[in-house]
Amino acid sequence: MEVNTDYTLGFLEEIINIKSPSGDTKEVMDRIREEFQSLGVDFKKTKKGASYGILEGENTDESILLTAHVDTLGAVVKEIKSNGRLRMAPIGGFSWGAMEGETAYIKNIEDKVYTGTILPDEASVHIFDNAKDSKKTPETMEVRIDEETSSEEETRALGIEVGDFIAFEPRFKVLDNGYIKSRFLDDKSCVASMFTIMKHFKENNLKPKYTTYFYIADYEEIGHGLYFIPDNIKEIIAVDIGTVGGSQRSDEKQVTIFAKDSVTPYDLELKKKLVNICKEKEIPYRIDVAHRYGSDASVALTQGNDVRIGCIGPGVDATHHYERTHKEGLESTIKLVIEYLLAD
Ligand SMILES: [Zn+2]
Repeated sequence: MEVNTDYTLGFLEEIINIKSPSGDTKEVMDRIREEFQSLGVDFKKTKKGASYGILEGENTDESILLTAHVDTLGAVVKEIKSNGRLRMAPIGGFSWGAMEGETAYIKNIEDKVYTGTILPDEASVHIFDNAKDSKKTPETMEVRIDEETSSEEETRALGIEVGDFIAFEPRFKVLDNGYIKSRFLDDKSCVASMFTIMKHFKENNLKPKYTTYFYIADYEEIGHGLYFIPDNIKEIIAVDIGTVGGSQRSDEKQVTIFAKDSVTPYDLELKKKLVNICKEKEIPYRIDVAHRYGSDASVALTQGNDVRIGCIGPGVDATHHYERTHKEGLESTIKLVIEYLLAD
């Protein structure tokens, strides 16, 4: 099977460059809906803001739901300091050291965007004795706005207010050897993969075995991403990143099949099915156990839904930091999902 990863990478770059911290995802969701439309995939929008595409299956009595999330880490303005700089309240879980020196985009209530830089309060080694080993916490990190302001009043006069969303620069790069470096490959690399899968079905006039929902979540990073579950659902698969590093088994060039995360084991029969597809179709894969990680699929289970769940995705190094994966990891993920949707 041939997979068009040029399309995947092109769309990935586009959506990664549309800032979308959880809670401020309308712009990227509009782009998502445009793409459903251009692929000719029927789609619906939830009241809260997510969207899902639907491919009718040979069997319409039961359905499968795939979920990937387009929301990302970010922050909101927590406080405007007396020096005119901003304290942040984080959206999602990350270490503040991971964002040090990064460009911040502050969007005010009128949708006017200011840029700035995330810095420790005591940044300069020329000035502060502790600059080299100071702790990075929400209490010690600030945003220096790229405007002339040195007081709370001046910053307010720009129209910046407590509660305004802050997005971080993704720094997307594809290297000649196939590595992809960027923030927010979690989980936009999987969103782009989902669209590649739909494109494959459309272009080759294929029908999945069961009616399939391609759900694009908008609140996953804070734990309430999946809130539409069809009545006749039999399986939910979260298409989300495998975690590369430390003692984890995941690999950037392979698809991870999670056996368990920190919430629950994934369905054993489903795991066997996914592993068998990889063996049969020679798709490079790794089975892994996630350490501090829960997917929208495991959340669906804890909400009491009677459904079998799985979680698969490309291996991504340094998750929630400056992440990296490989084109082959996306390819393996796309192939596995396509074969799974075609299987009995
Ligand atoms: Zn994720």
